[in-house]
Amino acid sequence: MLAFLCWAASPQSVPAVTVCLLEAGGPDDSVFIHAPAGVVAMLPVPFKNWAFKTVPQKGLNGRQGDQPRGKVMGGSSSTNAMLYVRGNRWDYDHWAALGNSGRSYDQVLPYFKRSENNETYGASEFHGAGGPLNVAELRSPSPINQAFLEAATLNGIPNIRDYNGADQFGSFRVSARTCKTPSTMCRLTAHAATPRLLASRRAARPS
Ligand SMILES: Cc1cc2nc3c(=O)[nH]c(=O)nc-3n(C[C@H](O)[C@H](O)[C@H](O)COP(=O)(O)OP(=O)(O)OC[C@H]3O[C@@H](n4cnc5c(N)ncnc54)[C@H](O)[C@@H]3O)c2cc1C
Repeated sequence: MLAFLCWAASPQSVPAVTVCLLEAGGPDDSVFIHAPAGVVAMLPVPFKNWAFKTVPQKGLNGRQGDQPRGKVMGGSSSTNAMLYVRGNRWDYDHWAALGNSGRSYDQVLPYFKRSENNETYGASEFHGAGGPLNVAELRSPSPINQAFLEAATLNGIPNIRDYNGADQFGSFRVSARTCKTPSTMCRLTAHAATPRLLASRRAARPS
């Protein structure tokens, strides 16, 4: 869904086409989607959410895990944490090696770059400028996040600046994504995180 919306947000790259979008959910208009951290309250309940459950988990004393999926215009991209995380080079190359032509990392990278407006790196080896998907770094880093990153380093996990760049192993502050185009269902968030510890803040949809 997100990929489609960002593609459709670039009219210069799209011929005159009519698209029929079928969606089981309603509009992306809830305060729980747009208020900071409001989405956390939605995750276990069937409100704009398919609210799937895992089967009972032996390792959790039979408890079932929440498996949220957006049931709303924008799908899970309306209810997700907005972290900008690309797949790993190995996976794309593996898919290509299995016979999926056009799916290698080098073949998909130009599309990632074209869709992106990266506030930090601009047009560069791994990033793009001028695309419909704005990517920003955390604006108010917390000392707790910094302490977490330092603890990771002390335990042999390197800090890496750009986890969507050459290397994805390490701890890092995450980047958040926000579409520049108001017609998309993208919103602004900012995050500070490591791979296992995520903190999020949602802000209003950009005008
Ligand atoms: C809570 C949460 C947090 C996440 N955080 C992140 C993150 O920080 N960063 C990140 O990169 N990814 C994140 N993700 C994952 C990301 O949002 C999804 O991978 C992505 O949105 C999947 O896109 P999709 O188009 O495949 O499916 P979806 O976005 O789920 O879209 C599927 C759409 O189809 C609709 N649909 C399903 N069945 C029917 C039907 N029978 N008839 C009509 N419509 C139907 C659904 O309602 C939904 O709107 C998160 C996901 C969740 C749920």
